[in-house]
Amino acid sequence: MTYQSTILTLFPDAFPGILGTSIIGRALENEIWSLEALDIRAFSDHKHRSVDDTPAGGGAGMVLRPDVVASAIDAVDRKDRPLIYLSPRGKPLSQARVRKLASDPGVILICGRFEGLDERVIEARGIEEVSIGDYILAGGEVAAMVLLEAVVRLLPGVAGNHDSLSEESFESGLLEYPHYTRPRVWEDRSIPDVLLSGDHGAVAKWRQEQSEAITKQRRPDIWEAWVKKSKAGKPD
Ligand code: SAH
Repeated sequence: MTYQSTILTLFPDAFPGILGTSIIGRALENEIWSLEALDIRAFSDHKHRSVDDTPAGGGAGMVLRPDVVASAIDAVDRKDRPLIYLSPRGKPLSQARVRKLASDPGVILICGRFEGLDERVIEARGIEEVSIGDYILAGGEVAAMVLLEAVVRLLPGVAGNHDSLSEESFESGLLEYPHYTRPRVWEDRSIPDVLLSGDHGAVAKWRQEQSEAITKQRRPDIWEAWVKKSKAGKPD
């Protein structure tokens, strides 16, 4: 079954963009996923196909009109797909959520521009807001690509080696250990001996220790959650 993505945007030409390259692009060609980018402007029956207007109550910027955005949404066949508005006010996207999204039949993504969407269309159409991080982009298109790239690489048949997916940062609850490849010595720096020892148990132990140390140092929030989870999982 093809994972079906529909994107509502003022810039449909931005797609597939980078999603047309490498393993994600190959998966698109192989119909593991599909992409339909619809121009929100095509759903405006206003003068000059206008899609935005000034904010009620005054202030800077423009707001996307609820009637135009609703017409675009209503033209899409939803088919049990989640309806998501990429927005800095949304719940931050996590690997756990990405995994869940990858188990759906597809997704409908709304990309905002200007100050964003009129609140009423968010309520009336039961739109969920998802953020890709605590910073402000100029529009939702790059955010939609981030979400899609993260989801598509998890679809069966997209990434060659499924073991490499489950060892990734966040999948185990920790950040990933450091990687090395040839040459064995580079600028006087050697690959850690243990990785060349052929002792799989010792390698696994070293990687686990590295993961723990890096997570503890860089992401105390993730570290604490992991400690709590591993304590809960272990009988005393
Ligand atoms: N006035 C809004 C920001 C608008 S930015 C606010 O302060 O919350 C314009 C558009 O870019 C948004 O409608 C949204 O679709 C997109 N966008 C900006 N930052 C984002 C983020 N961190 N995650 C997801 N989408 C984002």
